[in-house]
Amino acid sequence: STRASAILSALDIPVGAAELPGVYDGQWSGSGDVLESVCPTTGEVLARVRSATPHEVHEALGKSKEAYLHLRTVPAPKRGELLRQIREALSAKRDVLGALVSLEMGKIKTEGIGEVQEFVDICDYAVGLSRMMNGRVVASERPGHTILEVPNPIGVVGVLTAFNFPVAVYGWNFSLSVAAGNANVWKPSPSTPLCSIAVTKIIARVLEKNGLPGAVSTLITGGKDVGEAIVASRDVPLVSFTGSEAVGRVVGKAVQSRFGKSILELGGNNASIVMPDADMPLAVPAVFFGAIGTAGQRCTSTRRLYLHRAIAPKFLDTLQKLYATISVGDPLVDGTLLGPLHTHAAVGIYSDAVDRLRQSGAEILTGGRKYDHASLSQGNFVQPTISVPKTTDPADMIWSTETFAPILNVGLFDELEQAIEWNNAVPQGLSSSLWTRDVRNVGKWIGPEGSDAGIVNVNVGTSGAEIGAAFGGNKSTGWGRESGGDAWKQYVRWSACTVNFSDAAPLAQGVDFST
Ligand code: NAD
Repeated sequence: STRASAILSALDIPVGAAELPGVYDGQWSGSGDVLESVCPTTGEVLARVRSATPHEVHEALGKSKEAYLHLRTVPAPKRGELLRQIREALSAKRDVLGALVSLEMGKIKTEGIGEVQEFVDICDYAVGLSRMMNGRVVASERPGHTILEVPNPIGVVGVLTAFNFPVAVYGWNFSLSVAAGNANVWKPSPSTPLCSIAVTKIIARVLEKNGLPGAVSTLITGGKDVGEAIVASRDVPLVSFTGSEAVGRVVGKAVQSRFGKSILELGGNNASIVMPDADMPLAVPAVFFGAIGTAGQRCTSTRRLYLHRAIAPKFLDTLQKLYATISVGDPLVDGTLLGPLHTHAAVGIYSDAVDRLRQSGAEILTGGRKYDHASLSQGNFVQPTISVPKTTDPADMIWSTETFAPILNVGLFDELEQAIEWNNAVPQGLSSSLWTRDVRNVGKWIGPEGSDAGIVNVNVGTSGAEIGAAFGGNKSTGWGRESGGDAWKQYVRWSACTVNFSDAAPLAQGVDFST
């Protein structure tokens, strides 16, 4: 379409080329399998991208290692200056890159742009970090000695990413990793190759202008095979993986088996709990956004809603009224709040989940079908669904698994303790949210008897995190942390350096080894 062409050419992606090269390590190449980028709104094939052959993966990893050997000699504040320039280059293209996210992934325009803004924000953070990645000076028990804890670059970082944040997740990793002095190899989702090519082109131009190797930001598009090759490589000491629990389980074990380090950011199954004293005009729209934003395809999407019995009928009534107003359609059109699911396969997963709910006797309050108007028939549009399952048993598959679609299951409780128990009883532990004005509830929720998730919000929905705090989940979400907080400490190797500047060489703990 002309719209797609305009977006691609504004991002320097050739329009009308039969195939695009999908590998970058200083040079563009790619002669492996063909990946198709399919627009989830129209079904149109936006481009064909050539991924890497095993030989090309090997070569690109070699180039990344060379790039690391160079980058580690560049002082950290100078790496910060590089990130500042990348931040400016991304910011200049923010809206059009956001539009590409909408076009290729399917999220609505404001969320697409927001995702690029997140990369800009984390660059800002990493610029500051580049002057603050401090080790410590530790008191030694020995006279004339001092102990330093020193962070140094770790090497090549493999960044394997999911389809639903095709720009920001690389941003979280790349920015911290470059500040720390590492080269990066990005293996994006095979269904969002254009976003990764556009981002790589923006970064590559800045690297080139600064005389730095392009392989500081290597791109290897591809599927499972390419992912496996990166995960298996001993030249990749740290693998940062974002994706499903099923794949994360395989990746985590493979990295561990060669004693590499991993950061795992896996599936979520996030609950909002609403107490009777909650501020309803705030809570209802927050649950609405949490459940429907990105068409329920955020790792932090609200999938479980626990309502206090006293307010449940009124809450559900107001929520259903909001659901009825949803404007569904082309994610690039102003005012659309619900775009398509990312793939055709996801529509099947949605339908299967709804069938399972119906068969188990759940009451479907709203939604439950694919949209059938003609204007939406080319895309993967499904109705956002609210269901009240018959069972509240958190071990039941309805409650214990992540369905990556806009389905919200509702359960009623009488006591906060019950709701917290349900919140914690699932395998996943990413995000959670409590709505209350009572400080006693807040204290319980954020304390040892409270939510066991990595994100524990109060009067804030489950999705929509800022970059300042460490982001990630516990339990089967993988315990990974990215973005702010102390997350940068994972992207370096730490050494304890004891330095003796005295004229004697005493042993620790008073050990006497004299002859
Ligand atoms: P996915 O697990 O299918 O794919 C993720 C990545 O792994 C892709 O790049 C894929 O090509 C690659 N891959 C597949 N098999 C592999 C293998 N054997 N070895 C190495 N790599 C392999 O996930 P998806 O469908 O793209 O993304 C959705 C999932 O991601 C959801 O579960 C969502 O919750 C999760 N997610 C989590 C976070 C978080 O921060 N916790 C953020 C975004 C998405």
